[in-house]
Order: sequence, then C-alpha cells, then structure tokens
Amino acid sequence: MALPTDIFASHDRRSADCIYLDYAATTPLDRRVLDLMYSIMAKDITGNAQSTHHPFGAAADLIVRKAREQVATMIGASPSEIVFTSGATESNNLAIKGLVSHLKAVGKTRIVTTEVEHHSVLKPLAQLEALGFEIVRLLPRPCGMITADMIERAIDARTGLVCVQAVNNELGTIQPLAKIAEVLKERNILFHCDAAQALGKIPFLVDSVAVDFASFSAHKIYGPQGIGCLYVRTEKSTLLEPLLAGGGHEHGLRSGSLPVALCAGFGAACSLVDDDDRARLQSMRVSFMARIRRLNPVVYGHCEPHGNVPGILTIRFPGIDSETLVMALPGLAIGIGAACTRNGAKLSHVIQAVAGAQPSRETVRISFGRLTTVEEMGNAAEQIVAAVAGIRELQEVS
Ligand code: PMP
Repeated sequence: MALPTDIFASHDRRSADCIYLDYAATTPLDRRVLDLMYSIMAKDITGNAQSTHHPFGAAADLIVRKAREQVATMIGASPSEIVFTSGATESNNLAIKGLVSHLKAVGKTRIVTTEVEHHSVLKPLAQLEALGFEIVRLLPRPCGMITADMIERAIDARTGLVCVQAVNNELGTIQPLAKIAEVLKERNILFHCDAAQALGKIPFLVDSVAVDFASFSAHKIYGPQGIGCLYVRTEKSTLLEPLLAGGGHEHGLRSGSLPVALCAGFGAACSLVDDDDRARLQSMRVSFMARIRRLNPVVYGHCEPHGNVPGILTIRFPGIDSETLVMALPGLAIGIGAACTRNGAKLSHVIQAVAGAQPSRETVRISFGRLTTVEEMGNAAEQIVAAVAGIRELQEVS
C-alpha cells in the first residue's frame, strides 16, 4: 500500500512559501543524521540492543554504545551516566518524581524552582505539592535570570532539591548554573537542570555546571523527535527510582527496548554540534533587530553578564495582539509564546512572570538556527515590518 507521503510536502522547510523560524519548538532534522538513521532502519532486521547473544542484537548494542558515548562526550559525562528517555519531558519527570522516596526518607520535602521553568518541570512539581511537598517558585529578574543570591535566600534546612533550567525556551536567558551549584554543594542539596535548550547553544559540561541531574532532547539539536536523555551523576544514581516498571533497561532507571536508530541519531546530532554557529546567529540577530527597529519592538530576555542565546528572540509590538500578527504573517512559521501555549488558550506563563499579562498577549517568538540564512532573516524582517505597519494603520482608522 502506498503511503500518502505528499502530506509532508506542505511542511517542507523550503518547498512551502513559509520560512521556518520556530527552532526553539523543534529544529529541522540534519540530513546527515537522517541518512544514518535511514541506514539503520532500512535494514531487514534491527536487533534488540538487549539481545547481545546473537549478531543482530550485538550489532544494535554496538550502535547504542557508540551513541551513548557521543552523548556523554558532548556533556563531559561518562557513558554509564546517560539514561536514554523519550525526550526532555520524560527526563524532567524522571528526575523530579524519581527522587520522591529519597526526599521523603531524608525529610527534605522542600523544593526550590523558578516560575519560568518549562511545564514538564512545573507540572510534576505541582503533583508533588499535592502530595505534601513544599514548592518554592522564584520570580526571576525581568530579563528572566535567577541569581545564586535568590537561590541562597530561598533554601533552608528542609530543602532537598533545586530545579533550574539552563536556558529559557521563550526568553533565551542563560541561567548562572555554576554559581547556583556552588551554593547548593555547600549544603548538600540536589541540583536538577532542564538543559533542553542549552545543548548545542552554549557549552554545557556537567562538571563545570556541577549539576546532579540534567535533561536533554535530541530534537532541539537537529536530531530526531522522540528521544532524549537524563544525565544522572554516578554518586547520586542510587537516590533515583524509575517511573516505569519493566525489564530494567538503562541501569534499571528506564525500562523499555531502546529505539536503536533514534539513539544513533541523537548521538550523531551531538557529534555534529557546531559552537562556531553562535557568532553567525548573533550577527543575524543584530541585523534583524536593526531592520525592525523602526517598529519600536520590546525585546525580552537579555541579562548581563551571561546574556542570552542568540537564536531565541522574544519580541513584543505594543498594541498588537500576537495572534493577529501571526495571522498577518502566513509566510513565517514563528511561535506565539511557547509552543505548548498555542491557540491562545493559555497565555505564556514565562512572559507573564517577567513582564505581565498584557505583554504576554503581544509577544511572538522568533527562533532560528543552523539552516537559517541571512536572506531568510532579511525577508522575515521585511514581512514583519509590512504586517506591523499594516495592522497599526488599520488600528488608527478604526
Ligand atoms: N524543557 C524545555 C526548556 C523545552 O524547551 C522543551 C521543549 N519545548 C522541553 C523541556 C520538552 O522537551 P521534549 O519535547 O523533548 O519533551
């Protein structure tokens, strides 16, 4: 039976007349990663990486081992500290819920986090709150940053865990993780970091930032959707309990047969990360901003001294509803706040926290990366200038 592959044509980044500027939601799959995954999936049989007693399983195991090494190398961890999961959502849930028994046993049922975490951190924490944990949610500075001082003031003798993201997915703000870790280490408090938006955008080495647990996702670094990992520091691994009961894969922390091709894709994506791209993205950001300056945009998320990642740009055009703007821009695939707050059903909790309710209604997120060209950014700026000017003209008439 022929599959209706043409349904994908309209979503092709180049064939559709729509410029893809939603990299923070998901990045395009790198063709080299696709080729590798295809070569694995196109085999008649991809063995189960557990079945190492026969050649098919042994081959799968080799592929997974290599991928695990590539992921570990990328973050300066040892391969045994990588637990493959379905993505950062699962990794965040595993780190937070997996520590419940330990935190209860040691009587440290207070957890400190921030108001601008991803929902996959905030929601599991809300579930723990319903179980009797105390959750402290810190309001960041207007640029989105949480300082080590804020953390120091918030923790006490009952605090067992701190959860702070590495890079905010809406603002691009980089959090001062190493400084926060110093405060926590002295007091023996566990540190979990949602690093989904950091990998490939800023250097992230687990020993430099001194986190105990960190969540990652392949589809934010030009790898496949549906795979990620939780980094678990060796000395802390016995504190964690698995969420899934089963065959005891992934050092007993995440049962389920591994998706061999996805693991390979994740590993390859890590090995292809190009730190030099940051300068190119920064220069595209600067010229984009220069081209839209006359619209008097408000930009969120720039904090000194760490700043922000260049490829995430959250902009407000005061007086213009973000949904109206997005509808006036059919040629651009951009975000309205976070992807998970689309349809206007919920306002972005991040923009609300740092700027208030009205700004969160008027904010769009433009995020770009490896495949974005200078021409595309120039074209996007022109489209935005025309759309915003058009909407403002209509507003003046009515
Ligand atoms: N955390 C952050 C900061 C994210 O940006 C995302 C993806 N939007 C996630 C977690 C969830 O990642 P995944 O899609 O891999 O579950």
